[in-house]
Amino acid sequence: MDKRFVYADNSATTKISDAVLEAMMPYLKDYYGNASSIYSLGMDSARAILRSREAVAKAIGAKTSEIYFTSGGSESDNWAIKCAAEVGAAKGKKHIVTTVFEHHAVLHTCEYLEKHGFEVTYVPVDEMGLVHAEDIKNALRDDTCLVTVMFANNEIGTIQPIAEIGAICRERKILFHTDAVQAVGNVEINVAEMNIDLLSLSGHKIHAPKGVGALYMRTGINLPNFIHGGAQERSKRAGTENVAGIVGLATAITEATKNIPEKQARLSKMRDRLIAELTKIPESRLNGDPVKRLCGNVNISFRGIEGESLLLSLDLEGICASSGSACTSGSLDPSHVLLAIGLPHSTAHGSLRLSLSDDTTEEDIDYILSKVPRTVEKLRAMSPLWERILRDEDIDAE
Ligand SMILES: *Cc1c(COP(=O)(O)O)cnc(C)c1O
Repeated sequence: MDKRFVYADNSATTKISDAVLEAMMPYLKDYYGNASSIYSLGMDSARAILRSREAVAKAIGAKTSEIYFTSGGSESDNWAIKCAAEVGAAKGKKHIVTTVFEHHAVLHTCEYLEKHGFEVTYVPVDEMGLVHAEDIKNALRDDTCLVTVMFANNEIGTIQPIAEIGAICRERKILFHTDAVQAVGNVEINVAEMNIDLLSLSGHKIHAPKGVGALYMRTGINLPNFIHGGAQERSKRAGTENVAGIVGLATAITEATKNIPEKQARLSKMRDRLIAELTKIPESRLNGDPVKRLCGNVNISFRGIEGESLLLSLDLEGICASSGSACTSGSLDPSHVLLAIGLPHSTAHGSLRLSLSDDTTEEDIDYILSKVPRTVEKLRAMSPLWERILRDEDIDAE
């Protein structure tokens, strides 16, 4: 098979789509006015931001006034969690409930709050990578000020029972935040029906540029500012607006949510073909739930190899993929997500995440399937660990 370039790391970031770039271009070149200025060039920017806010709200079933633009998923997570904690502390409520396998933007924020007098309960997930609503319910206390559970996991793609958790939190009048960065555009989201109070989303995971995102904040919640300064975003988030980025985000989210069932059908077919073929490789396993799973996520562990070596070999073949999460590569610790679902260290180390997008084609899947099994075999042939696995030694014992 001829060498191709296959980008299969769309959970790390995506390529800007042509429609997004086209929509942004005028705001980079001609409409450069500051949205706070009163002359018409400024008004053009202000109008573009308003239209974008309407589009983002519509995509998740929110009201226009409930959307605040930010610099991305990490900022939205930090704002929601730190400022909900501040509100809770003022009422003497300093307990937060989250899960063990959140994105680091959530986990590290919770760890920061623990250093500042908050208590955090990290609810475990089951071996499929699913959070049980009942476990969240059991973790709630009278002094719980916030529950934060991700909508879909970025590594193993599991989709959580968000509506169920939302209903529990609403009944107990506890704020509920969800990091929906991976779910937006892949799963139908309606913040009102799902009883979500706060939701984080990001542009660059859905074919908009990096550095733009949004926080949905339900009417009446009124968290304090995270970024202080000017009166932008109705005085809630200071900083001259990233007008082109915001227009890009709105275009991308409109495109991504236009026909989710069709996208799910198309991508899950390719996903399931990858899973079926790659799990035929001996000593391999699928990580995460086969059904309650993002339509573009494949995560498989191959015993006896190092994920990093696999990624480098695949790169030489023109395939971009990931092992663990992008933030963890460079460190020797295996992914906290794979450890959370109970994988031994050695198995967690040999994992491969392939994440598909609207751009992925059947030919890309053919190409991946022509390369991955052979690469795994080659790496195993050089691996002392693989020899020990073949001899049935317990490699996780020491
Ligand atoms: C990528 C990602 C983030 C971070 O978003 P940025 O826009 O890159 O800051 C947060 N949460 C999840 C689940 C992600 O996948």
